Amino acid sequence: MSQRARARVVVIWDRCKGCGFCIEFCPRGILKFSEEFNERGAHPHMS
Ligand code: SF4
Repeated sequence: MSQRARARVVVIWDRCKGCGFCIEFCPRGILKFSEEFNERGAHPHMS
């Protein structure tokens, strides 16, 4: 049985401060930090 997406995560890349809350508290554990920097000098998360 296929799973239907119930939500979509959208990140505004250059507004991410790299705090990691979304990674820590993601109930599915599917988020991780990017290896790239945004314009704030942070590693935004990516899924
Ligand atoms: S790491 Fe996640 S929770 Fe923190 S600022 Fe970036 S997108 Fe928001």
